[in-house]
Amino acid sequence: MSKAAKIRSIKGTQSLYGEEADRFHAVVEAFDRVRRLYGFKRIEVPVIEQTAVFARTMGETTDVVSKEMWSFESRSEGSVTLRPEFTAGIARAYLSEGWQMHAPMKVAVHGPAFRYERPQKGRYRQFHQLDAEIIGSPDPLADVELLAFGAQLLDELGIGGVTLKLNTLGDPESREQWRAALVDYFSSHRAELSEDSRERLEKNPLRILDSKDPRDKAFVADAPKMQLSGEAEDFFGRVRAGLDASGIAYELDPHLVRGLDYYRHTAFEFVTDRLGAQGTVLAGGRYDGLIEALGGSHTPAVGWAAGIERLGMLIDTPVPDAIDAAIIPMGEAAMAMATGIAADLRRAHFATEILGSGKMKKRMARADEAGALAAIIIGDEEVEKGEVQFKALGSGEQRALGPRELVGPLMELVGERIERDLGGVS
Ligand code: ATP
Ligand code: MG
Repeated sequence: MSKAAKIRSIKGTQSLYGEEADRFHAVVEAFDRVRRLYGFKRIEVPVIEQTAVFARTMGETTDVVSKEMWSFESRSEGSVTLRPEFTAGIARAYLSEGWQMHAPMKVAVHGPAFRYERPQKGRYRQFHQLDAEIIGSPDPLADVELLAFGAQLLDELGIGGVTLKLNTLGDPESREQWRAALVDYFSSHRAELSEDSRERLEKNPLRILDSKDPRDKAFVADAPKMQLSGEAEDFFGRVRAGLDASGIAYELDPHLVRGLDYYRHTAFEFVTDRLGAQGTVLAGGRYDGLIEALGGSHTPAVGWAAGIERLGMLIDTPVPDAIDAAIIPMGEAAMAMATGIAADLRRAHFATEILGSGKMKKRMARADEAGALAAIIIGDEEVEKGEVQFKALGSGEQRALGPRELVGPLMELVGERIERDLGGVS
């Protein structure tokens, strides 16, 4: 009989434990905290959509749609795709779930996204994104609020060395003229461009500005600049004034583009010098044309996305979860008592572990390692008397207490820890 094939993970997926998992969740927790300060509501959208949802919104010529989509035939739904990003699915839900009635809506979501690309450090087939969108607002202050959310998030994550790069793609008319000027310009250098850029030339010339290939870079510097209409100029001016008023620094970058036609006005990236080639940590822009591309009515919107793994690599090592109380029972009768006390303490919201085996000294060391504020020691004598030894691990003070007298002293120690933690940051 043949041995069953050894199971393995799907290439490009990750399973996290310990510090890596803590990093991941430190990012998600900061996102959820800051989201609330800015009044973005939580939403959930499916991991899987009809392929057309992404093909139509992300454009056939983007890398994602042309080669990175993780698509397959489903028995009853035709071609389906695991989401490579959130925006398209949110726009689909906005239309098919009747979310229009909530407009303008500020929404936030995070979760897995999938791209079928070659896995390497910081690049996976299943990765995870944070995503924030404001749908249904044409106001430049929506852009400012969204940018401020992103800036504060990076700040609270303690990610230094970050620059906000800002550009405007103008309104559809100025963008169309610019596009034509770029096609003209790059066509005159066609033979010298990279293969990718030659392919992009007619379909998506803005993307050439974004190229990392040195052959293209030589021509990018002198490429024609966008001529903004008065209205687009005014919009951008109001975004910049809002950023100034919010105390958010930025650099103008006339070559920063989003490749898709649906993008209008504001485009931005927060970049860091700390990740080598993968320098962008949070990116987005205004996509006033996208919901129309899905068959909806004209709906101005602006949003950003950020890779959780990449942010996780940039933050300081998170402090692992500390417990409050470690219960150390010596013997079987003590174990029964420990079980009851642990249940009571957990119901009172104290993080509690029972350290049920090993030498006393070893167990005390484990309690310390786990960050316990107190050890609750139960020996035969304590069981007989119906009490425990309560030892504050900071001061070493020890006293006998009844099992129902533990909440007060534990509260006190938790209070002291909070004071210590606050003292540490101020
Ligand atoms: P890159 O130029 O690195 O391929 P991108 O332009 O494809 O990035 P976006 O589509 O803007 O990236 O996605 C937003 C964020 O999602 C990126 O800044 C990055 O942090 C993250 N991201 C994108 N693709 C991957 C991946 N395969 N693995 C991990 N994170 C990713
Ligand atoms: Mg990519």
